[in-house]
Amino acid sequence: MRMRRFHSHATSPGIAIGRAHCMESRGSSFARSWIKDSDVEDEVSRFRTSVQKAKDQLAHIQAKMCRYQGHDQIKIIESYRMFLQDDMLVATTIKHIQQFKINAEWALDKTLSHLKLSFLNVNEEYFRERQQDVDYVGRRLMDNLIGMPDLTPSDLPPGEVVLIVHDLSPAEVASLPRDKVLGFVMEGGGETSHSAIISRALDIPAIFGVKELCGQIEEGETVILDGIKGLLIASPSRRELDQYRTIQQKYIALEHILLEEIHLPAETKDGFRIHIEANMELAEEIPSLLQHGAEGIGLYRTEYLFLNRLDEPSEEEQYENYVSVLTKLAPRPVTIRTIDLGGDKLAVSQPYETQINPALGLRAIRLCLREIPLFKTQLRALFRASTQGNLRILLPMISSVDEVRQVRKIIKDVKRDLAAREMKFRDDVPLGIMIEVPSAVFMANELAKEVDFFSIGTNDLIQYGLAIDRVNELVSHMYNPFHPAVLRMIKQAVTAAKKAGIEAAICGELAGDPLAITLMVGLELNALSMNPISIPRVKKILRSITKRQSIEILEEALSLPSAEEIEKLLRKKTSHLLPGDVKKLHILEAQNP
Ligand code: PEP
Ligand code: MG
Repeated sequence: MRMRRFHSHATSPGIAIGRAHCMESRGSSFARSWIKDSDVEDEVSRFRTSVQKAKDQLAHIQAKMCRYQGHDQIKIIESYRMFLQDDMLVATTIKHIQQFKINAEWALDKTLSHLKLSFLNVNEEYFRERQQDVDYVGRRLMDNLIGMPDLTPSDLPPGEVVLIVHDLSPAEVASLPRDKVLGFVMEGGGETSHSAIISRALDIPAIFGVKELCGQIEEGETVILDGIKGLLIASPSRRELDQYRTIQQKYIALEHILLEEIHLPAETKDGFRIHIEANMELAEEIPSLLQHGAEGIGLYRTEYLFLNRLDEPSEEEQYENYVSVLTKLAPRPVTIRTIDLGGDKLAVSQPYETQINPALGLRAIRLCLREIPLFKTQLRALFRASTQGNLRILLPMISSVDEVRQVRKIIKDVKRDLAAREMKFRDDVPLGIMIEVPSAVFMANELAKEVDFFSIGTNDLIQYGLAIDRVNELVSHMYNPFHPAVLRMIKQAVTAAKKAGIEAAICGELAGDPLAITLMVGLELNALSMNPISIPRVKKILRSITKRQSIEILEEALSLPSAEEIEKLLRKKTSHLLPGDVKKLHILEAQNP
């Protein structure tokens, strides 16, 4: 066979070399049938058994993921499990069996179609995500009903393989037998799909979006999967194979070194200390973020407590959740952000119609200041929990001093209420704001006098500052964190914080970008909060640079007029400053053959 190369998205980094196994699509079809009155009960109980089985399967997958120390994937499985507890799915299907006297598969299919239709009335992005959840949970229930077995090692040929598949669901990715599957290439899927998030978290090299590949690869053909570059090489030459074997060994060795050093201090060579904290969506992620060396939680996105459910979490439920997070982290700081619902994160319990421009609509603090009882419930739970650890409260999407003052008034009411009920709380919980809209940057001096800390949310600051929708693929190529305007906005906010003597942190994705670390140190930020998986590498880079050099780099970057020039400068300066191990990793990522 001659050598062939297939390029696509680098979905999950790493190198896999082995024999290809092309797997058939596993579509499940079902028979429709009418049932007799006397069979209705049996049919309902057959459906209930399939639901229970799906719950057990998901619990098993979730437990397996926790062992692998994954991150975002736990929240995905949690949302599937919530669907199974949901009356919309289970009770409606049972009603269909009873009312129309049809078999469980047909009744389930009817419910799924209705559910998907009902999501059409909700925000588009939200609908897309929920539709994926409905598809997955529906498919699992249907497979259980018709007795379709899970993908198991016995579906694979003996020995290790690189899988070539049309599509794998997130849970199928999570269940891949790691001792047999070296990596996988998918014809479908995108870099930000749930399956992609899981393959990254589980550290399985993967490439997605290689169109019509299955017909072009022979069963058992030798392939090299380069998940760093997004490349599949079929029937490679001897030279290519040798080169890739060397790269693979280096890559594995470097990853080990980084993990071994996570407990060393996050300090530059000239003694500048910066707190490295984790962003968190669900309390289940705590063991993983501690294992990755997080020194606290810099952003707990509490809106996830409100998603994928019909009702709102009560004060008691929230209180217990916050206490459990605070006590597990104590004495480390935990920054809990009040709910950032709206935009692309919609709770079923919030009755608002689709907004034409949700990112500029009733979102985050705006929603809380309109729904005061909802906001007060969360604040009561937070203040009650405050005695149990090192709590800091963070307000999202603040755009004016007035909003902070309104919140302070509400907090006063909440405290008065708790005191009247003789409930204990800490009076000195630091109150901070997210700096994520341009008006907050322009008002940073005034805002800094009203609060105890700033946390800069670069994800939204880029969106609002550059007028680029975070979730719109058509303009995503313009979403650049190194745009000079972004850098200048960050600088302005940090300068205001320093002048007022309050702390400044960054909690957007930029905080975990190796290329941006000298900028963060040059800005003399107090803390960086990021996806836990980025922590080991960021700490390693920090320990190999100096504050003095970083300030020089920052000043030069601030004088440049374009993102391209800033990135070029950072690449040049950073590769010179990085420690040998991380430098090799970068070079490897950028230049492998
Ligand atoms: C941000 O906007 O940078 C941020 C951290 O908040 P979120 O991603 O939750 O909007
Ligand atoms: Mg934000």
